[in-house]
Amino acid sequence: MRRLLIVLFSLGLAAGCVSTSDSTETTVEPLETTSTTSRSQRTTEEPIDASGSTSVPSASGESDPRFASLDPGDPGGDAMGLAAARELGSIGDPTFPGLGNSGYDVQTYAINLDLTRPELVAETTVTLTALAELDSFHLDLVGLTIDEIRIDDEPALFMRDGREVIIRPPEPIESGQTVAVLVAYHGTPEPIADQDLPFNLGFQTQSWGTFVASEPVGAATWFPANDHPQDKALFTITISVPEGTTTAGPGQRTSSTTAEGVTTETWIAADPMSTYLASVATGAFDVSIETLDSGLVIRHAVHADAAIATGTELDTTVEMIAAFEERFGPYPFESYGILVVPEQLGFALENQTLSLFGTDIMTSPAAQPILAHELAHQWFGDNVSPAAWDDIWLNEGFATWAEWWWTERITGTNNVNTARFIPLEPLKGLPASGLFEINVYWRGGLTLEALRRDVGDEIFGQILREWSNRYGGGVASTQNFLDLVEELSGAGAADLVSQWIFAPTMPVLADE
Ligand SMILES: [Zn+2]
Repeated sequence: MRRLLIVLFSLGLAAGCVSTSDSTETTVEPLETTSTTSRSQRTTEEPIDASGSTSVPSASGESDPRFASLDPGDPGGDAMGLAAARELGSIGDPTFPGLGNSGYDVQTYAINLDLTRPELVAETTVTLTALAELDSFHLDLVGLTIDEIRIDDEPALFMRDGREVIIRPPEPIESGQTVAVLVAYHGTPEPIADQDLPFNLGFQTQSWGTFVASEPVGAATWFPANDHPQDKALFTITISVPEGTTTAGPGQRTSSTTAEGVTTETWIAADPMSTYLASVATGAFDVSIETLDSGLVIRHAVHADAAIATGTELDTTVEMIAAFEERFGPYPFESYGILVVPEQLGFALENQTLSLFGTDIMTSPAAQPILAHELAHQWFGDNVSPAAWDDIWLNEGFATWAEWWWTERITGTNNVNTARFIPLEPLKGLPASGLFEINVYWRGGLTLEALRRDVGDEIFGQILREWSNRYGGGVASTQNFLDLVEELSGAGAADLVSQWIFAPTMPVLADE
């Protein structure tokens, strides 16, 4: 998955990142939400505001009527300015037309979360490079109250419009200029509920602690973001918690200090990451850390209440990584591990370097296939991310194929001979509600299996490894994959893959 309306489990399959594993049907239960996360409490719009004032001086010391006209409720506003500003409020994703923002490229997010108080108090610095001259630009942020925005330490005007934060810098940002946008905010993060999903997206607060499940559109519930996979960035996340609480985050923990009853820990992800894959967790986690000869750090964080359910399922992680490296190329990040939370999530999610699981999947017969599925996503989805959400089969089809391959390896069987006889819908032109349907998983997996049977194991392996070589650290599209297949194995193989992706009637899988 992960973004959007995230993971659905349909037909007994986990969506989003979940897998459709085997014959086991996962019971879907909605996430519990605390009373403080009720969507009904969400503030949908706030007037233009900066530094807590409704009339903030611009850089020239006067309020700016043109920016004020961006108020969407002001019919007399500057239509040209409004249209231009709104155009910046989208990256043009066909499935989610309003998602993400254009006009700049985020370099880093430095997210500081204070979780020691009744509500979240946070500061995030978004360092971005303008791709055009910007009189204004957008960030995505859902709920929460913005206290102040500063650009290179100068106060900036801003307003809220749904999930868009429209920001007017004191002076236009020149094309190519890099600026630091500091956003100070507070409140209770409110997960995004959607009628198509049995659970909520984003930052989740539970009685035992917190965790994050954002795919596809939930990242903006806890930090201001250019919330689209296309704009990858480096992340530093610092979390303050009451002494005795454990934190978990992406990459590696680089510092931990405790003073006056507050523990502050910093997590740094060394590799570019899409916003939907960024995560943190807090609670009573048992953390195990092992550094392999290769330098890869394996660290799992299992909540104390989920430890018995987890059992020995994680013991195969190192063996699984070795097997996948042989098939897909080197593991792409500096660390990997599983976060197990004491929840019946109904899904698992491939947060980058720290896949999220609930106790339900860890206690089900599907644990091993889904562990393989989320691990495979580190190559397919996390390292090479979808250029658009409509390319989600590049995540889910690849992870499903890997899951099948692992399952056959350890059990001698898999779901290929079930999936191949089900008429599954094509893989493109998906509505938002269709991102995590079974066709994306099973027809996507069958597409790769059909390619493997056509070109043979050796060339198939070359294609998968070159996919990571070429597009790792960035995004890739379905057309990119078709082009690679043609380049490495010819037009006939590319045509076969194209049929599997687009044909209204699913092709017949050749026998081995
Ligand atoms: Zn998946």
